[in-house]
Amino acid sequence: MIDLRSDTATKPSPEMLAAMAAADVGDEQEQEDPTVNELQRRAAAMLGHERALFLPTATMANQIALRVLTHPGGQLIAEERTHILIFEAGGPAVHSGLIARPLPGRAGRITPDQIREAVATSDWLQPARIVVLEQTHRSAGGRVWPLDELSASIDAAHELGLPVHLDGARLINAAVASGVPAADYGRLADTVQICFSKGLGCPMGAILAGSDEHIEEAWRLKFLFGGALRQAGVVAAAMLYALEHNVERLAEDHARAKRLAQGLAAAELPVDVDATETNFVGIDVASIAMDVADAQARIRAEGVLVGRLRPGVLRVATHLGVRDDDVDRAIELIPGALGVLAAA
Ligand SMILES: *Cc1c(COP(=O)(O)O)cnc(C)c1O
Repeated sequence: MIDLRSDTATKPSPEMLAAMAAADVGDEQEQEDPTVNELQRRAAAMLGHERALFLPTATMANQIALRVLTHPGGQLIAEERTHILIFEAGGPAVHSGLIARPLPGRAGRITPDQIREAVATSDWLQPARIVVLEQTHRSAGGRVWPLDELSASIDAAHELGLPVHLDGARLINAAVASGVPAADYGRLADTVQICFSKGLGCPMGAILAGSDEHIEEAWRLKFLFGGALRQAGVVAAAMLYALEHNVERLAEDHARAKRLAQGLAAAELPVDVDATETNFVGIDVASIAMDVADAQARIRAEGVLVGRLRPGVLRVATHLGVRDDDVDRAIELIPGALGVLAAA
């Protein structure tokens, strides 16, 4: 099986496992784990913030950020298919008492005018409390916010007195794809999160970065959420390994995704090649009157696993477990499975 469902399909390499086995560790709850401490120092600098906190998952990082930056009973403004609104089990409502204010976006992006309008039409009983933006935007297909657009939307929120959390689960993909350092995106937001269990290839792990004050409160919430660990250096060692070895190589994932998009589009599948900016390819099967689950089953029968990007659209993802010949095979097998004849 060629597994192209998600970039979470990566498994730790022998070299990563060796780095984990060799990790110098201590009690993380006492802030005595040297590997975690080193990771947090490096990540803070990389994300353009004073301080960073190691967490087991990016979902926990997002939820802690909301709790740090908001008060219950207010609105969370975000593009309607933002991860935090649709894949986190209602966490904003449960953990922080926030009401979702979903806005339609283009390529996962919401504009300064949309943010101003949402705030202007919220009332004192349910005031706007926070804006959450996502870089890259998962459900839009791993789309990259250009720095000037991200900056303009964040400025609009700040001018209205609202904090901004940047869900940068795949911020490093955006940095590699655009050539803009992660810190240049990260420092714009009040808090920023990156996930290590996606393209960076770790079995788990995330980082939340922000000001000293915000991260101090996040540290307390890490205990509240049950995320304070013991000898977590074994995981931090994998994350440090990933920062050394798995960042630049994301460009290979992006190049393979682009080639896959071009190959599938050439075989007459409904694929927007220009929308593949990082490691996802979207196949809009709804536009050819095909059901997502049915399309997935047909492709699976040919030995390829693909995921869901959003309703009606398949996700084909590249990651460090995907080689060039897997891409070649997928370009051949997927159109065949969907009954589309490759252009001769
Ligand atoms: C995967 C993902 C998360 C959550 O990551 P976990 O580490 O699996 O909790 C958050 N935001 C986005 C955009 C993601 O793609």
